[in-house]
Amino acid sequence: MATKDIERSATSALEQREPVWEYADAPESTEIVRLEDRYGLFIGGEFVEPKSGKWFETIDPATEEPLAKVAEAGPEDVDLAVKAARAASDETWRDLPGSERAKYLYRIARQLQERAREFAVLETMDGGKPIKESRDVDLPLSAAHFFYYAGWADKLEYAFPNRHPRPVGVAGQVIPWNFPMLMAAWKLAPALAAGNTVVLKPAETTPLTALLLAQVIQEAELPPGVVNIVTGAGPTGGALVEHEDVDKIAFTGSTEVGKIIRRSIAGTGKRLTLELGGKAANIVFEDAPLDQAIEGVINGIFFNQGHVCCAGSRLLVEEPMFEPLIGKLKERLQTMRVGNPLDKNTDIGAINSRAQLEKIEELVAAGVEEGAEMYQPECLLPERGFWFRPTLFTNVSQSHRIAREEIFGPVLSIITFRTPSEAIEKANNTPYGLSAGIWTEKGSRILWMAERMQAGVVWANTFNRFDPASPFGGYKESGFGREGGLQGLEPYLELEPNGGR
Ligand code: NDP
Repeated sequence: MATKDIERSATSALEQREPVWEYADAPESTEIVRLEDRYGLFIGGEFVEPKSGKWFETIDPATEEPLAKVAEAGPEDVDLAVKAARAASDETWRDLPGSERAKYLYRIARQLQERAREFAVLETMDGGKPIKESRDVDLPLSAAHFFYYAGWADKLEYAFPNRHPRPVGVAGQVIPWNFPMLMAAWKLAPALAAGNTVVLKPAETTPLTALLLAQVIQEAELPPGVVNIVTGAGPTGGALVEHEDVDKIAFTGSTEVGKIIRRSIAGTGKRLTLELGGKAANIVFEDAPLDQAIEGVINGIFFNQGHVCCAGSRLLVEEPMFEPLIGKLKERLQTMRVGNPLDKNTDIGAINSRAQLEKIEELVAAGVEEGAEMYQPECLLPERGFWFRPTLFTNVSQSHRIAREEIFGPVLSIITFRTPSEAIEKANNTPYGLSAGIWTEKGSRILWMAERMQAGVVWANTFNRFDPASPFGGYKESGFGREGGLQGLEPYLELEPNGGR
């Protein structure tokens, strides 16, 4: 064989041994979504023009292109929505038999299943989360919540034996932008099942799926005024919270706003549940199954770009495990695909807004400045839109801002420990208490740890698992009250002893 031929065959043998596999583009079509130019407020079963006369734009954070104009509800609009909710409560909803209320909830749940693709694509367009998450997590779980609470609507007397469960009345619900549709489902389903009527305020950057849900509610022929949806920014939420004819406030969002709300309704007799921020510890012991733990860590912090209140944003690793874990984690980060959220292969989509991106950048810069060591994989980011690379920090001390403050982005702070007691001490060393993860082969250790963790949810050898039957909520500055499960009905019911009425 000539030298050239030998070289050629050696090269082709090498190519055969190390083929380079590229992902083909796999974009989900947006044709299924019919965007309107502008969306009014959903009050009394109709879409109406805002009395405020104001509108704002909602954009696609992956392209920065405007999607639609949305009404901004002022105090007068909020007042009309609360009046519609009160009238619907008095005239129909609260005295409707539970089995009848359930029928409407089942109808909504089935519509969500039937139109799941449309909802998922719209959720991804408006919020930037990967389509594989909105398709496989947000929508199925939203439908599941309506199904689950539909099942309870006619069984409240059995759910709370020897009590006479009565609806609280009109609920004002304020939700954030990280799981817009799912949070609407978490709020609406238990409130309606328990016989309450609702005024819901979606987040300013992600109002569109709630407005599509309003169309579904219209089609399900829910009596007018049972659900009202007022879009707008913080002041709209404020007007709802402060409205004197609202009986109960349910809020999910930042601890800062949660505190403002708590102060503003103190002494009014309004009921309150708060689901606020978190800084969860994901704890990996030396005996943990390493590959599984790596996937759990990845899911824990990079799911939904880290815009997750229960994200495992502090990784606590037992010292002997640190070297093998960090090596594998860095390798795994290199395989993560950041970019077009509508592409079915995308792992990390767009950051929800410019403001959130700036907050992440500020905290990451603080991490570097305070002496932590940063690692980011090489990856090309799209030119337009809001993006942030998956990021790891080692050499993190507990006093660093990145270990204490909620970053709400794809940023993981890694800390080591030597004993289970030290792990507990470090895990609980936070003002928050929403969730935690434990990775170990020993069941007894899981139980020992879980008993001592100040966290509303403790996952063992898994992370970010949700089920409508399982209550979720926080301790300390992560809030109070539970959503999901039987416990999720309690905030929406007066539970008088039997014979109380
Ligand atoms: P906010 O707490 O400001 O927003 C949550 C919801 O409350 C939104 O609908 C918001 O409206 C509304 N709101 C804002 N101010 C008031 C007010 N004074 N009275 C009543 N409602 C109000 O969260 P941000 O969007 O500002 O996010 C900031 C940080 O909060 C994030 O970086 C993250 O750390 C944390 N966060 C935690 C969440 C969680 O699930 N625990 C969810 C979202 C954020 P609008 O969006 O229109 O301003």
